[in-house]
Amino acid sequence: MPSEQSPPATFITTPEHLAQALGIPVEPLQAVHAVYPLRVSRYYLDLIRQHGLPLWRQAIPDPRELTDSVGLTDPLDEENLSPVPCLVHKYPDRALFLVAGECAMYCRFCTRKRKVGTPDMIIDDATIAAGLDYLSRTPAISDVLVSGGDPFMLPLARLERILKALRAIPSIATIRIGTRVPCTLPMRVTSGLAAMLKKYHPLYINTHFNHPTEITAEAELACARLADAGIPLGCQTVLLRGVNDSPEIIRELLYRLLRIRVKPYYLFQADLTKGTDHFRTTVDTGLAIMRHLIGHVSGMAVPTYALDAPGGGGKIPLTPAYIRRLDDTLDFTTYLGHDCSYPNRIDL
Ligand SMILES: *Cc1c(COP(=O)(O)O)cnc(C)c1O
Ligand code: SF4
Repeated sequence: MPSEQSPPATFITTPEHLAQALGIPVEPLQAVHAVYPLRVSRYYLDLIRQHGLPLWRQAIPDPRELTDSVGLTDPLDEENLSPVPCLVHKYPDRALFLVAGECAMYCRFCTRKRKVGTPDMIIDDATIAAGLDYLSRTPAISDVLVSGGDPFMLPLARLERILKALRAIPSIATIRIGTRVPCTLPMRVTSGLAAMLKKYHPLYINTHFNHPTEITAEAELACARLADAGIPLGCQTVLLRGVNDSPEIIRELLYRLLRIRVKPYYLFQADLTKGTDHFRTTVDTGLAIMRHLIGHVSGMAVPTYALDAPGGGGKIPLTPAYIRRLDDTLDFTTYLGHDCSYPNRIDL
C-alpha cells in the first residue's frame, strides 16, 4: 500500500525547520525568534533560493534585530491614536482598521513587528465589533483601510462578514485593503476570493512588493484576478537598505508592477521601528532615487516618496528640490538639470 504522506506545510514557522531548509546555524534564528515571530511561505522560500539576499533579508531573522539602538516600539504612536483596540484614527476622514493579526510572512522590517503575529495581536469578534461600532458612530470617516496583519490570511467567510458590515455603514464610501499576500503567498488569491471582493465596490487594494524578483508568474496571476474583478491595485513599497536602495532596482520594480496592472502608490522611507536599524537608509538616498525616476520613467510608474512622521503626524511627501526661487518669478531646474523659469504672476 502506498504510504500516506501529508503535503508539505505551506509555511515554515520554526527556527529548526528554517535552519534545515537553508543550511544555516539554528542558534541565531532561535535568539531572534524568542523576541519576534517567524513565518516564511514555501513559495517565498523558493524565491529566496533563486534570488538570494534582497529577498533573504526581508524574511530571515537577523541577530541585528536584537542589537538596535535608536528604534521605537511604536514609531507612529498608533496605540495612542486608537480609540478602540486595533483601529487607528489619525486623519479626520479615514481610519486604519486592523482586522487580522497574522501574515503570510513576518517581514523583518515590519513597522508593527511589536505585535503582528504575536499574542498581543489576537483579533477576535469583540475587537471587530468594537471597531465597527466606532466607525458607525464616527460618520466623518469615509475611507477605511482594512489591514493588519494581513486581511487575506482570514478565512474567506470571516473577511466577507467584515466587508459586509463595513458596507452597511452608510458614511463609509471607499474601502481599501492592505495586503502582502499577492507577493508572499499569491496562490491564496483565488478566483473565489476575487469574486467575493467584487461585491463590495468601491474597493481598492494596496499590495506590497519590494523587489523586482518578487514579480513572478504567480504574483501576476493573483493581481490579474483582482484587477479583473475591477479592483484598482496600488503598491506600497518600503525603501530598504540592502534590498532595493538603488535607482536601477526601484525602476525595474516599478515597471514590472505596471506590467502586472499595479500602480505604484507610495515608496516609504523606513520607519524608526525597534529592531529594524539595519534596514534604514538616509532620506538623501530616497531623494536621489526619486531624482532618477521623475521625468526619466513613465509618470504612471512614479510613486510618492513619503515619510510617516514619528509620533503620528501623518505622511509627509518627500520630493527632490526642483524649485530654486518662488516669488514673482519661479526659477526651477528641469529633470535633465537645465535652468528654467516661469512668470509667477497674473497681472502681466
Ligand atoms: C497611511 C495611513 C492612512 C492612509 O493614508 P493615505 O495617505 O490616505 O493613503 C490612514 N490612516 C493611517 C493611520 C495611516 O497610517
Ligand atoms: S505583510 Fe505587512 S503587516 Fe505583515 S509582517 Fe509584512 S510588513 Fe508587517
